Amino acid sequence: MTDSTTHFSVCPHDCPSACRLTVERRPDGGVGRLHGAAMPYGDGVICAKVARYAERVHHPDRVTVPLRRVGPKGAGLFSPIGWDEALDEIAARFAEAAGRFGAQTVWPYFYAGTMGLVQNGAVNRLRRAMGYSGQDKTICASIAGAGWMAGVGAKWGIDVREMAGSDLIVIWGANPAATQVHLMGLAAQARKSRGARLVVVDPYRTATAEKADLHLMLRPGTDAALALAVMHVLFRDGLADRGYMARYTDGAGRLEAHLRDRSPDWAAAITGLPAQAIEQFARLYGTTKRSFLRVGYGMSRSRNGAVNIHAVSCLPAVTGAWEVRGGGALLSASGGFAIDRTLVEALDLPAPEVRSLDMSRIGAVLCGGGDALGGGPPVTAMLVQSSNPATVAPETAQVWRGLARDDLFLAVHEQMMTQTARFADIVLPATTFLEHADLYTSYGHGFLQVARPVIDPVGAARSNHWVVGQLAARLGARHASFALDDMAMVEGCLSASGLPPAADILAAGWHDCSLPFDRAHFLGGFGHDGRFRFAPDWAALGDAGAVLPALPDHAALAEAADADHPFRLITPPSRHFLNSSFADTPTSQKLAGRPTALMHADDCRRLGLESGQRVRLGNRRGTVVVHLQETKGIASGVVAVEGVWRDECFVEGIGVNCLIGADPVLPAGGAAFHDCAIWVRGE
Ligand code: SF4
Repeated sequence: MTDSTTHFSVCPHDCPSACRLTVERRPDGGVGRLHGAAMPYGDGVICAKVARYAERVHHPDRVTVPLRRVGPKGAGLFSPIGWDEALDEIAARFAEAAGRFGAQTVWPYFYAGTMGLVQNGAVNRLRRAMGYSGQDKTICASIAGAGWMAGVGAKWGIDVREMAGSDLIVIWGANPAATQVHLMGLAAQARKSRGARLVVVDPYRTATAEKADLHLMLRPGTDAALALAVMHVLFRDGLADRGYMARYTDGAGRLEAHLRDRSPDWAAAITGLPAQAIEQFARLYGTTKRSFLRVGYGMSRSRNGAVNIHAVSCLPAVTGAWEVRGGGALLSASGGFAIDRTLVEALDLPAPEVRSLDMSRIGAVLCGGGDALGGGPPVTAMLVQSSNPATVAPETAQVWRGLARDDLFLAVHEQMMTQTARFADIVLPATTFLEHADLYTSYGHGFLQVARPVIDPVGAARSNHWVVGQLAARLGARHASFALDDMAMVEGCLSASGLPPAADILAAGWHDCSLPFDRAHFLGGFGHDGRFRFAPDWAALGDAGAVLPALPDHAALAEAADADHPFRLITPPSRHFLNSSFADTPTSQKLAGRPTALMHADDCRRLGLESGQRVRLGNRRGTVVVHLQETKGIASGVVAVEGVWRDECFVEGIGVNCLIGADPVLPAGGAAFHDCAIWVRGE
């Protein structure tokens, strides 16, 4: 028997790092261990859940053949069928639905189960060619993106590798120890070599906060209040860089006047932080020019999330930290890649005049509620790729009611039997990233990468792109992409973008698209009209934006606690899962334990609750039963349930997203996963 061989690949998951990988291919054609491969970002380190990826690829519950439902919707009872039979049926049902209600009755649905450009965007090519309903991609980054664009006006920031040369690192609303391991390595380098200080802003003591010199454990959704008080101190104590603001920002004088009564005492009452801790942070920030602000998505998952992100993003514009190496801020690096998406999104086809449905409101869309359908026909046919809305979307009970509709035809193309797949009429087996080719950008660094398949598809699994091409042929959809294979798509996208061919990138390992220092630091000016906007044009970022504050402020839009719902719930990510991916692999499940509510020890005592017991969390949307763990590492009045777990891991078979509201977040939609008022009762 021959030995195992080693191959390069790229992690496709929704994580900023897009790690370069080495993958062991066993003599039997299966996957062995995965390791990090050298690249200028990441240093060959990868997270443990991906190192044991063989558990996912060869999971006994992997979907390996097309399946047709043989039991009630949601029961998960299926019988194997052939690919042609499955594809013929999907095409026939889509055509039948479109014949009855018009093409917009079909709603292709996808998100970031894979981040590769070819596979991720596959359904969009079919959508455009057929005139099916559009999808607003709101479930993760839309709120943060709006908040960042409000001030900065461009979707990039400083190169994360500069963190190693910073004197102060502020990680605000993120837990990279769980979700972006490489950041912790860079922070450790800065602390060791320069004595850099680490400040973490988060409502609970995460693994990242454990390492901080200063942890500001604020109430959820009060980040803007903290940022305002910091800016108040900066102006009050002469730590604001007025020269920088005159050159690079709008309206500094108006901002200063606005901040006069936003003192640390004012913010203390809103955030729950001691005023003295706010003063300490403000002085540290204001006296350290080389300050790297990692703006996290956590603070955006709130009804005032965009306002929070914008307020926090104002800090380096007040101190002028952007001007020095190691200073400035970063939310996402995604805008630094100049990729021509014509081929991967079929943009050369005429844009159909169709409605766009909000993916976060899938429950309301499928149940025909209110304005969710945009005045168009009901959704009666869907193809879901790279997404598991039955588990990850808010208002779970409504989502399940919608997916269980008898008049909805649902096709799900998946690697595992997810909760969404259990509702499907037809389930199609999907390849993992180790079984198909793709092209990868990143939102954490500037390295473009290409990956070829490492192993043959498991069972009869096929890629997103292949499935879409097969459906296109049956539906009569025309576009050049449908005739290309996965690798030809990669080549076509690279060529259109004026980038080197795949073979060159594969030989080099990556292609460096990192922005030069002056661009990454906006030394030639910010987006918009060259100036950072303290006064955003919210209306330009979303129809409903006009009601947001004219200047950075605490916007009291959150679902407030009240006498009946005295706790605020947040649902941050577990380090063992990545959204709902890995929730079915045995080692991740074992390490994560069980769905658990973290609650302050004083709150537990007051309610007569103890660690280890079952508690019921509830509000008007539903209830969920979890186990309790008391801690002093969370703000009083706050409950955290890390996830995303499979629903069946909860005592009553439904997960924590049944408590989360799906009302769209201003200015342009999004889900407020950390903004939920609940009651807590012992079971
Ligand atoms: S999930 Fe993130 S840290 Fe883990 S291997 Fe993938 S890109 Fe790297």
